[in-house]
Amino acid sequence: MKNSKKLFAQAKKYIPGGVNSPVRAFASVNSVPFFVKKAKGQYVIDEDNKKYIDYIGSWGAQILGHADNRILKVLGATMANGITYGAPCKNETLLAKKITQIYRSIEVVRMVNSGTEATMSAIRLARGYTGKDKIIKFNGCYHGHGDSFLIKAGSGASTFGIPDSLGVTKATARNTISLEYNNIKAVKEAVKKGDIASVIIEPIAGNMNFIRSEKNFLQELRSICTNNKIVLIFDEVMTGFRVCKAGAQKLYNIDPDITTLGKVLGGGLPVGAFGGKKEIMNHIAPMGGVYQAGTLSGNPLAMAAGLKTLEIISEKKFFDMLSKKARQLVAGINKVSKKYNLNVTADSEGGMFGIYFTKSRLKNMNDINLSSKDDFLDFFNYMLKHGVFFAPSMYEAGFISSKHSKKDIDYTIKIFEKWAKARQLLLD
Ligand SMILES: *Cc1c(COP(=O)(O)O)cnc(C)c1O
Repeated sequence: MKNSKKLFAQAKKYIPGGVNSPVRAFASVNSVPFFVKKAKGQYVIDEDNKKYIDYIGSWGAQILGHADNRILKVLGATMANGITYGAPCKNETLLAKKITQIYRSIEVVRMVNSGTEATMSAIRLARGYTGKDKIIKFNGCYHGHGDSFLIKAGSGASTFGIPDSLGVTKATARNTISLEYNNIKAVKEAVKKGDIASVIIEPIAGNMNFIRSEKNFLQELRSICTNNKIVLIFDEVMTGFRVCKAGAQKLYNIDPDITTLGKVLGGGLPVGAFGGKKEIMNHIAPMGGVYQAGTLSGNPLAMAAGLKTLEIISEKKFFDMLSKKARQLVAGINKVSKKYNLNVTADSEGGMFGIYFTKSRLKNMNDINLSSKDDFLDFFNYMLKHGVFFAPSMYEAGFISSKHSKKDIDYTIKIFEKWAKARQLLLD
């Protein structure tokens, strides 16, 4: 860690906290981060030349693994014709068309540069369309760092104990109602009071670890929104192209009004998107009165990487293969955990998984707070020391890429078993 430690000290001089996104700082795992020198396939290599099996993959974006040759090739060829135009190009239409082919609920879609932009724009649109002000979100869900969403937010905001960020005005906070995940009664009561423009939800939550919504809950949400002219937004920035090709909405067979996308969609480049029914989307400028724009939106590099990624993950059996890998990992963890009677449970859907430091699966944010932080910290640091990189927070999900091999997974389970043995001795 010698070189990484030095680099982190230098970074802290010029960058707040030494990082450009808080969870990267490793502060929540009582540690300092390694600095990445390079990444290829399922591995990252740090500045001290230590190699890790990477179960983060840039928070899920790298579904094909790092620096996939097919993506590199297409980026090189595209770049030769210019990096950004600020004027329309063909690939924008091709990518938009591809998204509408994959997502039944999306008729038209607009590209932005991050998930945060997608969700911010989506709720502005919902407000403009309905003429109402309030939004409902759920405790522990993360929708990027827009002001309206930093109320009981998940991900880094929970990790660092600041789910309600400073700097969000009271007026903004008042218009966000944050309710318990999977609790339909709370939604009904809030809707009764009126003025709800939108309900936004991660249909499978990946920013308070990995938590499934219950099918009844989502179905009822759908009908409540329909009956009250509320725009239902599925934030699939993480789950889109990840839990299966067409996201959680396909698994649950429920169509939202608007979907937000990101992460996998950019193939590693900064991309987000929001799309849905024409009737709603046509309220965006230049057609309608809801303003939204972007200097680099739809740039040719990002569009090319996205198109190629979607082409590859659309290959037959891609998701069967990816899901199988995640299930092998999860089954191994559950088996070892049972054998050593540990408070660890794992679950997965497609190429996304969760490891909980409790005896059973989780239902909402309160359940995570019941899990053992000590067990998690010990687990995280042990795995990292042995070259396995999981998210440095109990509030994050894990991600597998198509490049992870059976060997990588077996190795991970082997190290996990070593940890389990040591942990059991310690706890006995
Ligand atoms: C990552 C994420 C975002 C924010 O995307 P950024 O690209 O980090 O701005 C929003 N919603 C969900 C569900 C996410 O997982």
